[in-house]
Amino acid sequence: MHRSTIITFSLLVLSCVLRADDRPNVLFIMSDDHTTQAIGAYGSRLAPLNPTPTIDRLAREGMTFENAYCTNSICTPSRACILTGQYNHVNGVYDLGGHIETPRQYLALEMGRAGYHTAMIGKWHLKVEPGAFDYYCVLPGQGNYFDPVFRVQGKEPWPNNTIKFDGMHSSDAITDITLKWLRDSWDTEKPFFLMHHYKAPHDFFEYAPRYEDYLADIEIPEPRNLWEQPKFGSIATRGANDELLPHIGTSIGRRNPRRNYVDHYQVDSSLSDDDAKRTAYNIYLKHYLRCVKGVDDNLARLFRYLEEIGEIDNTVIIYTGDQGFMLGEHDYMDKRWMYEECYRMPFIVRYPKSVKAGSRSNAIVENIDFGPTMLAFAGIETPGVMQGRSFREICETGQEPSGWKQESYYRYWMHMAHHDNPGHVGIRTKEYKLLYFYGCNYKGEERTPPGWELYDLRNDPTEVVNQYDNPEYAKTVIELKDRLAKLRKRVGDTGEDYPEVEAIIREFWDYDDEDRAKAIAISHRYLQIRQNAAKK
Ligand code: CA
Repeated sequence: MHRSTIITFSLLVLSCVLRADDRPNVLFIMSDDHTTQAIGAYGSRLAPLNPTPTIDRLAREGMTFENAYCTNSICTPSRACILTGQYNHVNGVYDLGGHIETPRQYLALEMGRAGYHTAMIGKWHLKVEPGAFDYYCVLPGQGNYFDPVFRVQGKEPWPNNTIKFDGMHSSDAITDITLKWLRDSWDTEKPFFLMHHYKAPHDFFEYAPRYEDYLADIEIPEPRNLWEQPKFGSIATRGANDELLPHIGTSIGRRNPRRNYVDHYQVDSSLSDDDAKRTAYNIYLKHYLRCVKGVDDNLARLFRYLEEIGEIDNTVIIYTGDQGFMLGEHDYMDKRWMYEECYRMPFIVRYPKSVKAGSRSNAIVENIDFGPTMLAFAGIETPGVMQGRSFREICETGQEPSGWKQESYYRYWMHMAHHDNPGHVGIRTKEYKLLYFYGCNYKGEERTPPGWELYDLRNDPTEVVNQYDNPEYAKTVIELKDRLAKLRKRVGDTGEDYPEVEAIIREFWDYDDEDRAKAIAISHRYLQIRQNAAKK
């Protein structure tokens, strides 16, 4: 027998002997803002660049979900959904200001109660102490890319105990912390539940210096809708006669004068608009993909260690991002929209004991279902407080259980904050997406024009033709509005928390001629406000 084989064999025997508990470990890996377009296994225009060979290995050896969605495309809310198994109107984390205190960290509590050794390492972003975990080492807030500080347990109360990793990149440090925990602290009498969360590739995409040359000489493939998309959007996203195009949605090119990547990256001001946009796009994508590469390389390190100790096949490994991200599609940056690229989450699961290698599913799953699914793999029933449902059965059989959801629900509350996205609500089925931009803040103020959009995903997967006013889709619109109203009731987003907003939602629901005239007036008024603000 070859020497290395003997070593591997004895390690396997050793780990088997130590493992009295044969339930699988659960390793939940989440990056921040890592979108499906930037994962090879999802086969987008960027796949030929081979951005994620390690994550693609998970897909080759496990199952890839093509229709996994966040219910509110922004960091803290999505994390709250995963931890609580509840929609944001139930867990109360509507926006970046929210938090989840220890007694509501249900996922970790259930795992711990069932005898799992639990740890939370990396980006947390839920403000208060991750007290439901046996161990934590988390970035404060967004944390830093370089020389990162982490909050850990210690003598002092949260958040006073910290450790700092001078000279290190956060992705390297987070991986080191996890490896150290597995090596020195994991109680191998128990299976582990480990949440391993990267900060990367969140903005502003500060990659480790070793990636400076990665993709340096490559022209990054562009999405077509970075350029022409005359039938995309509505009065809600373009304004009356396109008058709000500069003010809704931050941009790659110079379209949005308040915030765009041409200015951010200080692109040569003598360049034409198109050339400046192309230049900014390339800088943006290269920064982003270099951060992604850092995550992928670090995961190779982590998986190698799990192999070395013989635990990789005893571990349910999940890879996801807290939401998707706009990489120039529709000339947008960031997330927050219900449009596909930032609404869709990557979700790949590897567990060779029961999940078929190389399988794919188009079942609709939501981030509130992730917790129940992990609990199910650990043999734990979904607690009654969680609204989500386990899709372990889909992972293991490829079949949707009877009564499985055929639609997902979306709600974005942070009206016009940071990236100029109006508040909206919507429904997605496997065939269609209906979006309703009601356009106001929590008090029903700072209004942008209400409007509706319908995309036929069967023939328009990149969502460039709004079919809402196409008479051929009139019946579909009526049906989907009815489904959306029922869905809102079913998930409990009844509007009692913010009655002024709900009144506006009701007012523009049927969107008759009178509503359309009002929307035009709101558009003109909003343009005035933005122009006055620009003058100051
Ligand atoms: Ca995020």
